[in-house]
Parts: sequence; structure tokens; C-alpha cells
Amino acid sequence: MEQGQQNKPGTTGQHPHFRPAPHQQHQQHQPHQAQRTPRSAAHQRAAQPPHVTPPRPATTRRRAAANAAGSASGHTAGEGAASGKTAIIAAALGLALLGVALFSCYWTMLRPLNVQVNGKDVQVRVGTSAAEFIRDNDYFGAKAGRKLSIGGNVISEDGGTRYSVALDGNQKTPQDMEGVNVVDGSSFVVSDGTDVTEGSTEKTVPLAPAVQMESGGAVQFVSQWGRAGKKVVTVGDESGEEVDKEVVDPAQDMVIASRNVKPAGGKYIALTFDDGPSGYTPDILKILKDKGAKATFYNLGSQEANYGKYAKQLTEDGHELASHTNAHQYLPNLDANALRAEISSAADALEGAAGVRPQMIRAPYGAFTSTEWGRAGDIISCNVLWNIDTLDWKRPGADAIKAAVLNNAFNGAIVLMHDGGGNRQQDVEALPGIIDGLKAAGYELVTVSELLSHDDQFPKEVVEGTVTMPKDAQLPQV
Ligand SMILES: [Zn+2]
Repeated sequence: MEQGQQNKPGTTGQHPHFRPAPHQQHQQHQPHQAQRTPRSAAHQRAAQPPHVTPPRPATTRRRAAANAAGSASGHTAGEGAASGKTAIIAAALGLALLGVALFSCYWTMLRPLNVQVNGKDVQVRVGTSAAEFIRDNDYFGAKAGRKLSIGGNVISEDGGTRYSVALDGNQKTPQDMEGVNVVDGSSFVVSDGTDVTEGSTEKTVPLAPAVQMESGGAVQFVSQWGRAGKKVVTVGDESGEEVDKEVVDPAQDMVIASRNVKPAGGKYIALTFDDGPSGYTPDILKILKDKGAKATFYNLGSQEANYGKYAKQLTEDGHELASHTNAHQYLPNLDANALRAEISSAADALEGAAGVRPQMIRAPYGAFTSTEWGRAGDIISCNVLWNIDTLDWKRPGADAIKAAVLNNAFNGAIVLMHDGGGNRQQDVEALPGIIDGLKAAGYELVTVSELLSHDDQFPKEVVEGTVTMPKDAQLPQV
């Protein structure tokens, strides 16, 4: 109401249609006017004097007049001319509209756009999506990315991102391209897709210990048992591959010591005989008994069927019976099960023949690597090599065999000879002189276990052949 009253002629002196501009309102310092609303404007119109009628457009007035005349007196020549003129105008208007429509159609649907792709000019119809454009052009030669397993193996050659694209210098994904239309003058750089790695999950699994092995000594034994730890692995959703991610609890490695024997309190040497028992064993046993010497015999399990009685006799004579495994195989060629069978079947055979079940072995050719320790370290006490090789198997003559021992003897030495596996007559001939010579040099001839017992670096259970793997220990996975 205030608005209408304000604008009444005579009240302010303004014309009824006059509406002050916003800045004028402020200049008039009339804050209530600044709150003008459509409602107040309507009220203002309602307040206009009733005699003020907006003038009708001239064409409307003419048409109204013609209609009035026509209804009164029918068609006339003047009326026909006017009607023709109207039709021409309508037709022209129609043509114009059609032209606009056609042009609009052309502009929005058919117009070719000029763009650059990988530095070359290419035309594309307006309205084409960028993704469609790239697809229809066979990706402009871009090679699809692959889908890879978490282990880096190819799951599918085209399972990765189909292509890479930079649009006007901005890196975009193929998904981005679906939602945009090609714009005139754009620049595309389409290149090979990227590899995608499959999805994966993580899990915590036991971490098996590894095995470490010292070298350089004649006697090898477990100085530290392996213990499992824990690790987190990543498992591929599709491939099932497991990849190490992180060690959360380190495993304790199995450690194989390799030591030479350094006896305290005397001079000791251990003579050892491999590959028996055989027909030569009784002769050797007789010499040892006659001269009051002790020795160690690394017997083959496979020999016990025929010569088992000599295995029994040597133990009765106070010598040491140990294992040379069953059939003199090169142990690194065997898998874990065959290796363990080769060791345990020999122990069975020796036990059957002599009533003792030795844990001590000498691997054929001395070949017992960290792998063999990892696979069978729990069923032996030690692997015994040698310090003095007589090379008796070459049959160099009794004197040469004797000299090899006497010239190289030292306290704690382990001497390699043979009582089986071939003609051992030279060993039988050399043995008396060897024993005499060593005794003359002040050595006591003892078994290997006794030799070890004079050196406290060898654990009691290794010396006694009573090794058992602790319950919380674990063999390496080798
Ligand atoms: Zn052998």
C-alpha cells in the first residue's frame, strides 16, 4: 500500500509509470522502497487510474477493423490483396524458419569438426563423443594394455586400459572420453593402454626358515635349529598367486656348523673305513684288534644282507658303526623323500645287522649340501668328512697309502680309507704300518665319536648320536 500511495500523482509529482532505479531509491533515502516486491508492484498497477488503457498495436487494430468490415459486407478486392500479402509473408517466414531449422540441423548434427590426432588433421562429425571417435578409428593404432597377475604374469593380453589419451594436453581416461563430445580444434594424443594388475587380498602365513651352512670343517652338524616366522603375502584374486609383502615375524634360520676337531688333553687320530662291510673287513678287524687300535666304519645298508655279520663283529670289537647310506647314491640328485629313505633304510639295515642304529653318516662322495640338511637334518646327528684322503681307491700301493697318513697326521685328523667297494688288499697291507707309525708319533687311534668327545665345540647329543629336533623347530622348505 505504501508503494501505491508513494507513486500516486500529486503525492510525489511523478508519472504513474515512473519507477525509480535502485540507485535512485538509495539517493532518496527511502529504505522501505528498497524492499520492493513483485506483490507491491502488482498493487502499484492495480492503483493505476482505470481510464489508462494500454494502446493496442496497429496491426491488431487493422485486423480488427477488417474483421468488422468483412462480417458486415463480405469479401472485397481490397481484402483479397491483403490476404495474398499475408500469405507471402507467411511463406517467407516459413521458408526462413525452415532455413533456420536446416541450418540448425546441419550445425548441430552434420557439421564436420577439424581436430588433430597424434599430430595429424582428422575430421569428425559434430556431436560425436570422444570415446566413439577414438573407437571408430580403431584406437588410432594404440595397443591395449594387458591384465597382469600380482606376480607379473599375463592374465589377458587386452585386459588393461584400452588406450591412453591426452586431450588438449590434459591426461584423460577412456571413461572420461565417454562423457564428452569432440570439440572443433581439439588436439588428441592417443597412445597405448596401460597394464592393469589384478585385484588382490592379503593374508598372514607362516614363514619357513632358511638354512645357512658353514664350510671348511670335517664334521658338519646342526648348531641352530630353524624356527618359523610369519609374513604377509598378497594373493591374486584371479591367479591365486602369492607374493611376499612383508615379514612380520622373522624366521630363525637353520645353521649347519662345519668344524675340524681340535682335541684337548692328548693326540688323537680317527681312522675310518667306507663302503663295507666286505670280504676285506675281517682282515682289517683282525689287524686293529692285534694292534689295539679303534676305528670307525661307514657301512652301506645294501652291504648288510651279505656281510652283516662283520657289522656286528666290529661293534663287538669296540669300533664305531656309522652309516654310508644305503646304496651309495649321489644324494644331491635325490628328492626329499628319496633322500630320507636312503638314510633311514640304511639305519634299518645296520640296526638289523648289528643291533645299533647310528645317527652319524658320511654321505657318499661327502656330498651333503645345505639342501640335504634342510631335507633330512632331523634324522642324522652329523655328516663326517675327512682331513686326510689316502686315495686308496686308486690303489697307489701300500707304501703310498701309509705315507699319505703318516706324512699328514695331526691331532684331531680324520683319515679316509676303504674296506669295501673294490679290491682293498692294499689297505690291508698298509694298515699295520699306519698304526705303528701313528703310535710311534704319540697318537692314540680312536673312534670318531671319541675324537669329538675330546673337543667341547661339539654338542653332547652330536657326540652321542642322540639328536632330536626340538618340537618348536622346523625344517626349511628346500
Ligand atoms: Zn663311499
